[in-house]
This record gives sequence, C-alpha cells and structure tokens, in this order.
Amino acid sequence: MHAHPTASDPAPRPPPPGPAANSDAIRLQLRSWPEVDGYLQGCKGVIVPLGSTEQHGPTGAIGTDALTAEAVALEVGRRTGVLVTPAQAFGMAEHHLGFAGTISLQPSTLLAVMHDLVLSLARHGFERIFVINGHGGNIATSKAAFAQAYASASARGLAAAPRLRCRLANWFMAAPVMQKARELYGDREGQHATPSEIALTLHLEPSLISKQRPLEPPAPAGPIHGPEDFRLRYPDGRMGSDPFLAQPDHGAELLALAAAALSDDLLRFLADEEAG
Ligand SMILES: [Zn+2]
Repeated sequence: MHAHPTASDPAPRPPPPGPAANSDAIRLQLRSWPEVDGYLQGCKGVIVPLGSTEQHGPTGAIGTDALTAEAVALEVGRRTGVLVTPAQAFGMAEHHLGFAGTISLQPSTLLAVMHDLVLSLARHGFERIFVINGHGGNIATSKAAFAQAYASASARGLAAAPRLRCRLANWFMAAPVMQKARELYGDREGQHATPSEIALTLHLEPSLISKQRPLEPPAPAGPIHGPEDFRLRYPDGRMGSDPFLAQPDHGAELLALAAAALSDDLLRFLADEEAG
C-alpha cells in the first residue's frame, strides 16, 4: 500500500535560503505576493521583529527597543536569507506610562496583535514564526499569544496548524550578548535603559550620540508594578543602569554577537532542533 504524506509525517525540511546580498532582499515589505509564494516553496520560516515605544531614561531614545529588535532581525535575515516582516514597534509598556512619549499596548491588546500576526502568516503556509524581541515586558504576553494562536490555527483548520511553531528570541538575553555586557559594563548594565541597548542605538542612529551625558547614580533595580509606582521608584526612568558608558562601537559588536547567536538559534528552529 502506498502511504500518502499526512500531517503527522515530518515533512522534509529544505535548507534555509542562505545569506542574502543585502537586507533589502529579505524585507517582506519589499516583496510582491508571487515572490512570497515562491519563497514558501523553499522555506516556511519568517522573522517578526517586536519592540516597544517607551522611555529609556533621560538620554535614551523612546524607540530603543524597536530600533534594536529590527536591526538584529534584519541582520539575522541577511545572514540566513529568512524573510523579515515589518517591525511591531508598540509593545506592552504599561509601567512606563508615567513618562512622556511612551505608547503602550495593554497585555490583552498585544496578545491580540501577536495572535493575528501569527494567524495571518500561518494561513499562507508559514510554519516557523521566529519573533526577535527587544523588550522584557513583551515576554509573558507573547508566549500567551503563541498558545492562543496554536489553538486558533487548530480550531480554524488551517493546513499549517499541525506544524505551526512560534519561538520568542530575546536578543538582549542571548548568552554572548549578556557576557559582553557584563565585560563592558559590570553591574552598571542595570535592568532598564541599559548601556548595551543604548550602545546599539548609538551605532544605528548616530544623531543619538549628542544626547549622551553623565548622569546621577541611578535608582537601584527592583520590582515593577504600575506606572505611578514605577516613577516613584525610578524617578528618571533608569533601573540601576549607566547608559553614559555606551559607545557606538560597543553597539556594533553587540549587534554582531546577537545576530550570530540568534541566527544559530533560528537555523536550529527551522531544522526542528531547538531546545525549549
Ligand atoms: Zn529597552
């Protein structure tokens, strides 16, 4: 008897497309739909940059988490040839709302946004959704969104549902990045508006260098509750960090370390070898 492939058979996984000449080649925004159809014949993976639009201390850019997530995503895309969607620049930043310029999605809103992104991609056959995240406040909600998306894909009977997998990759938590941050900044790395993330923005957006100035010692890192409590505990928005230590060349180095670590992680994810 001839066995037909079924959803439970592991489909042979084609190798990922391989390094792209430049990052324009892997930006979903610059592709046509037939090009995306063609891409899906060879690769079912896609990268979604996820950031936040929130205060980063008195000298850091509001867009830090979105700028950094997108830059790492484009570099991972360039190294692997995997398509990169536009960045989701708004995240869960309720606790930063005590500071001007912060724009937050409630957890339930971000959950709905991430759910809908995954379902849209899965409908067309994407099966490996690799979210490159730049903000700790997005982690719990993103994981909840993945669970909801699996349930919806199954309930809607999407062809990709049995093989759909989402992975959250936090660039700032990659082991080589954390090690380098420790080496460069020690305990002045802190928890928010960290010199490592600020260094990356200085590398990406040189106009930000002019904002850098020495700051008073920061409030120590501690718990996170509501926006009023956050502002009382952390009056200038920093949590134990000294962003004045950041240098653009540190940013270039951290970007390369993050891109290398996350490219490896993505390739294992595409080959079904990822841990956890
Ligand atoms: Zn940040």
